[in-house]
Amino acid sequence: MAHLRMLAGTIGNRPLTLEGERKAAEYIRAQLEQAGYRATIEPFVVDVATGGSAKLIPDGAPEVEAQPMSGSPDRSANGPLIAAGLGRSGEYGSTSARGAVVLVDRGETQFAEKARVAQDAGAVGLIVVNNQAGAFRGDLGSALISIPVISAANEDRAVLQSYAASGRRVTVSTKTERLQGTSQNVVGKPSDAPCTAYLGAHYDSVTAGPGANDNGSGTSLLLELARARHLDGVCVIAFGSEEVGLLGSRAYVKAHNEVPNARFMLNFDMVAKITRPALIGDADLATRASKLPEASGLNLRQVTSLGPGASSDYATFLQAGVPALMLYSGDDQFIHTAQDDVANTSEADMGRFLTLAAAVLDMLTAR
Ligand SMILES: [Zn+2]
Repeated sequence: MAHLRMLAGTIGNRPLTLEGERKAAEYIRAQLEQAGYRATIEPFVVDVATGGSAKLIPDGAPEVEAQPMSGSPDRSANGPLIAAGLGRSGEYGSTSARGAVVLVDRGETQFAEKARVAQDAGAVGLIVVNNQAGAFRGDLGSALISIPVISAANEDRAVLQSYAASGRRVTVSTKTERLQGTSQNVVGKPSDAPCTAYLGAHYDSVTAGPGANDNGSGTSLLLELARARHLDGVCVIAFGSEEVGLLGSRAYVKAHNEVPNARFMLNFDMVAKITRPALIGDADLATRASKLPEASGLNLRQVTSLGPGASSDYATFLQAGVPALMLYSGDDQFIHTAQDDVANTSEADMGRFLTLAAAVLDMLTAR
């Protein structure tokens, strides 16, 4: 709990590449050192797309809100607006699209197809209007599109249609935003012996909140487990930059050729609030862990992955061929919000998971 209060309370938000993440890394390094580890900070370069922005500006009229399509090139174009139904090739009618910005509706055909048809017709830009309430962000996939493609909300259809009817010129542009900087993993080695197994947890948070359950809790468990079990060959890694795509674990695996030979990897992500707890990852490890007396009463689900759109660092190690298992206390309604603070955690639940984690580690390292 002292670790958790330091990470999610005193230090607070720990988004990648920023001060909070660096301070947390320094704290973790010092704690591992105090527990008798050779602790080092391994920096890595971060360069990721973090979304982007789009502009839709009619000449002589107020700007209309727009979203970039992912996969659209960063480009700006100006031309008369023309409407072309759902954007299928037969719908371009007699008006030439050459040099025009084309306005089409979402639906029936894929965004990439609409973009390809517009581009082939000589259009300089494409606006796709939502066919349901609100705005949306589409995706062009890997299609080779050279014109800016943006989307607009359903609520702006009428005004855009009226601009198209009068041939008003509009400017459309897209700009991808990237986050570039330096993040770091903290690695604790119990001795000079090479790492033959790993314990891991990510210590970064999202920008929106202090990440107490996600994942100050797993990091705190990691530190306490490392202190209580100092085992030759069992290396301890606190990963940075997990929240934007497992960057820390990927950087680690890339930098350390010995990883694929590891016997196991145990990962802790969200272990402070028991809702629907699970053992996630390697099926054999999950089954063995579920039979431990320390697992009884927890009703641990056994699943091979966290679910669509979600992941954690265990997946990077699984991909590298290491039997990896993640301990997870279940969904949390406050995940990735400012409310995921220390008050959002349960000391008793964290205690149960620490006990379980120690039992799993003991089982895996028993002689
Ligand atoms: Zn997490």
